Amino acid sequence: MGQELRKSLTDLMTWYEANKRDLPWRQNRDPYRIWISETMLQQTTTRAVIPYFEKFLTQFPTLYDLARAPLEQVLSHWAGLGYYSRARNLHRSAQALVAAGGFPENFESLMEFPGFGPYTSRAVAALAFGQEVGVIDGNVIRVLCRYKGWPVAWWKSSERNKLQTEIDLWAQQGFCPATINQAVMELGASLCSPQRPSCFQCPLRTNCKAEKMEKPDHLPLKKPRRQSEIWLWEVQLFSHQNHFALIPNTYAPFLRGQWIFPGQVQQLNSKPKSYDFRHNITHYDIFVTLVSPQPTMESVVEAEGQWIRPEELSLWNPASLLKKTLNAKDGKEAKCEAEHWV
Ligand code: SF4
Repeated sequence: MGQELRKSLTDLMTWYEANKRDLPWRQNRDPYRIWISETMLQQTTTRAVIPYFEKFLTQFPTLYDLARAPLEQVLSHWAGLGYYSRARNLHRSAQALVAAGGFPENFESLMEFPGFGPYTSRAVAALAFGQEVGVIDGNVIRVLCRYKGWPVAWWKSSERNKLQTEIDLWAQQGFCPATINQAVMELGASLCSPQRPSCFQCPLRTNCKAEKMEKPDHLPLKKPRRQSEIWLWEVQLFSHQNHFALIPNTYAPFLRGQWIFPGQVQQLNSKPKSYDFRHNITHYDIFVTLVSPQPTMESVVEAEGQWIRPEELSLWNPASLLKKTLNAKDGKEAKCEAEHWV
């Protein structure tokens, strides 16, 4: 068993050295670059991340630059990547890491910083500091489930632990933990693709159980889909001298904790008959309607709101849902004016 695994890993390392992509965050083992790239790569493809990564690193070249920057500036450089809580956590963690004197070198200590979950902590610890721990992402799950022939419910933490134990074992076989982890991820991102994997070229082929059973694309098991939810968002665009009110979102399940327009939400069983536009965020199917009356000045103050100019919106919240809402308002006004002229 040990022999078999070591043989597979030797072949995997040889393959990786010959086939690895030249990605900007692989230029060195700087924990800051690895941290930023791994955070961006959650929910976003490598190809899409590269230009954002380069721009972000130009703007915030070190941990200290990021810690010193205003949050709004960090958010504006995150625009387009979505899931803005990641950018907020990056900023908070950068400040905490600076206060702590830099990055701790093991995943257990990294986990104590905001936004450092098991994945990011292990990635930084293994890739930057060579800690002998494995990193689990979608690509790694696919390779492991197939190599081991395991039909595990990987989305449940109890069964995911089995995969974590296995990849930890791979990182403890005497090879460089950074390279082993990257090699497994690279294999999952290339040959071991979700459909029709290229097993005939694969360095793990000899010992891969799924390939032996001739059913590689039956694994991993598919996660049951989260049902989409229909929400009506009635937006009250409070405007005063060309300023709009934004309030901290404590009322809508989407864009939670972010700055949004005042309004109210309602979950529906079916699509509403009339609405201004529709927008999706993860499993939220949102139907947006601009309504009156507007909220009172007092209610905005009570909600600890802020007044911003339209051109400042992306600094407060770059989510495209908000931009579309403002555009919808402009469209409505233009339409009313046109009707009035007629
Ligand atoms: S042999 Fe095929 S299924 Fe097995 S790890 Fe390689 S590409 Fe994936």
